[in-house]
Amino acid sequence: MPADRRPERQAALRRSLEGEGLDALLVSHLANIRYLTGFTGSAALLLIHAEATVLVTDFRYAVQAPAEAGAAAAVEVDQKSVWDRLGRVLESLPIGILGIEAQSLTVRDAERVGALTKARVAPTSDQVERLRAVKSPEEVAAIRAAAELAQEALAEVLPAVRVGRSELEIGAALELALRRRGSEWHPFPTIVASGPRSALPHARSSPRAVEGGEWLLIDFGAQVDGYCADLTRTLVVGGRADERQRAMYELVRSAQQRAVERLRPGMTGREGDALARDLIAARGFGDAFGHSLGHGIGLEVHEAPRLAPTAEAPLPAHAVVTVEPGVYFPGWGGVRLEDDVHLGPDGPERLSDGRTELVELS
Ligand code: ZN
Ligand code: ZN
Repeated sequence: MPADRRPERQAALRRSLEGEGLDALLVSHLANIRYLTGFTGSAALLLIHAEATVLVTDFRYAVQAPAEAGAAAAVEVDQKSVWDRLGRVLESLPIGILGIEAQSLTVRDAERVGALTKARVAPTSDQVERLRAVKSPEEVAAIRAAAELAQEALAEVLPAVRVGRSELEIGAALELALRRRGSEWHPFPTIVASGPRSALPHARSSPRAVEGGEWLLIDFGAQVDGYCADLTRTLVVGGRADERQRAMYELVRSAQQRAVERLRPGMTGREGDALARDLIAARGFGDAFGHSLGHGIGLEVHEAPRLAPTAEAPLPAHAVVTVEPGVYFPGWGGVRLEDDVHLGPDGPERLSDGRTELVELS
C-alpha cells in the first residue's frame, strides 16, 4: 500500500492559503482535484477550507467519488446543480476571502461563484500546481513505470516499421502496444511525422507513407496511476543516414545529453533551457530550435516547472521534467529527442532509458 499523501498535500495547501490571506480555495482544475482527493472523474468542484474539505459532484459519480476520496474529502452529490450545492456549502462556512483558480475557472463560472457567496472572490494562480511540481517517491515511480512501458511499446513496434507504412498505421500500432501493456490512456495525440513533416514540431499523424532514407519522428506517451511519460525518438527508415542527417542528429543528441547531465534544482528554468540552447546556437543553428527545452510532467503532460528562455523561477528539487531539444528545417525535416528526468537533490536521474543512439531501420 503506497503512502497516502493527500492529508499532507491538503495541509501544505492550507498553509499556503493562510500565508496569502485566503480563507478558502475553490479548486476547479480536475488534475488538482485528483491530486488533493484522489477523485478521477470529469466533473467536480472542491472547496478547501480550514475546517472542511468538500467535494461537490453530480449523480454520475455518486458511487465513485466517495470510494475514491475516502477520508480525504466529504462528498456532496447533487442531482440537479453542483453550483447550487456549492452555494449551500459556501454559506455554511465562515469565508471572508475565497480564492479561485484563475487559470482554470471560466469568466462565466467566476461570475457564478461571485453570485453564490458574500465572500470577496480573489483570483489566484498555481496554488496547487506549485505543490504538484515537487514529486513524492511514489509519483516519481509512477512516471518511471509509464516511461518503461512506453519504451517497451516502441521496441515492440519498431521491427514492423518500414518504407511504405503510413504515419497513421505506425501510430495505431504503437497506441495498441501502449494500451495492451497497460497505459491508461494516451496523454496526448501520438505524433508520427515522416520525411519533411518531421519539421513540424507538433505534427498530426497523417496518411503519408514513409519513404526510404527519411526521418521518422515519434513523440508519444503513456500513463500509469494517472502519471504521464512523454518521449520522442527520431530515426531513419529504409537506409543509412546521410551526412546532414547524421550531423543534425549528433547536434541534438549532444545538446540533450549536456542538459540532462547538468540540470540541477535551484537553476532557473531559463538556465536549464540554456544548457541545450547555447550549444545548438554556438553551432549556428539557434534559429532552428524554436521551442522551449522542456516542461514538467506528472498528472498532466504539461505542468510546472518549465525549461524555457522566459522561465525565471528556480527549478525545485524533485521536479520531473522533459528534456527535448530539436532542430527543424522546413522542407527537409527535423530531429527531436525527448527523455524524462527527475531532478534529485544529488543530481539528475533519467526516468526513461536515454537510449538515443541513431537508429537506422533497413
Ligand atoms: Zn513529447
Ligand atoms: Zn514534451
